[in-house]
Amino acid sequence: MDPETRDKLRKAGKIAAIVRREGAAKLKVPGASFLQVMDYCEDRIKELGGQVAWAQMAVNDVAAHFCPEEHETAVSNEGDLIKIDIGVHLDGWIADNAMTVEVGNSNRYADHMKAARNALRAAIKLVEPGRELWELGVAQMSEAQALGFTTIKNLSGHTIEQYRVHGGISIPTFNNKSKIQLTEGMQVAIEPFITEGDGFVKEKGKNTIWMMRKNANARSPYAKKIITEVAPLNGLPFTNRWLTRKIGRGPTALGLKALHQQGVITAYPPLAERTGGMVAQYEHSMIVGEKTEIYTKHEEDSW
Ligand code: MN
Ligand code: MN
Repeated sequence: MDPETRDKLRKAGKIAAIVRREGAAKLKVPGASFLQVMDYCEDRIKELGGQVAWAQMAVNDVAAHFCPEEHETAVSNEGDLIKIDIGVHLDGWIADNAMTVEVGNSNRYADHMKAARNALRAAIKLVEPGRELWELGVAQMSEAQALGFTTIKNLSGHTIEQYRVHGGISIPTFNNKSKIQLTEGMQVAIEPFITEGDGFVKEKGKNTIWMMRKNANARSPYAKKIITEVAPLNGLPFTNRWLTRKIGRGPTALGLKALHQQGVITAYPPLAERTGGMVAQYEHSMIVGEKTEIYTKHEEDSW
């Protein structure tokens, strides 16, 4: 990896780590507005000199893929288990990181969150050129099981490429027998999702996250407006309220519907544990090397 790219990743990672921790601290307070906190995170990314890739969150049995809409009124409640997942980029070079907070002081999920941190830490320890991916899966599953939990098998970490959140190779959270090897300079995000349920997610609830798959000509004027807004993202995700605030709720709904039907955009609906089990998640991004660099690590992270 060239020094210029590495420098962009380091800067993006530093910002992503700060905003993740600030957002998590806000969500931890009962009564925190999801909308206000996610807006704060996006503003903060820009203020710190980054470009917003995404600011997402997920509550309790939902593992991932939720963004509040413009009219969202939900707030955090005592005892909620909330994941915050922040993506920052510089010219498409992405830092992807996440953590979990338990709202208030109920202290019901200390072991659960610890299992997720342990799983991430154990996998990171193995990251080096030549390492086969199944080994990272075993490490994560072992740590989850040691405290009485399991990993979510149909969610995984991933490689990252410029403007590509998922670079094409999945990092398993169980022994999937993958003999694919990590290589020098590979950009990798590791993210164990740990649950007390049976360890699979399914789609649940309204979709608020989209990605554009291809350039396309739309006939609908609303679809055209949306394409104008999201084409500059170069394939990075976008969320409903970015659009509703610019073109209004009606046009956004109609435009998204048309683009989705045409196959121009892909939906990423919320993913919830299928038995309703609570889910904790921690995530870091790193550059694989003889000395692997975890570029989303915050000095206060213990994992
Ligand atoms: Mn993430
Ligand atoms: Mn990720």
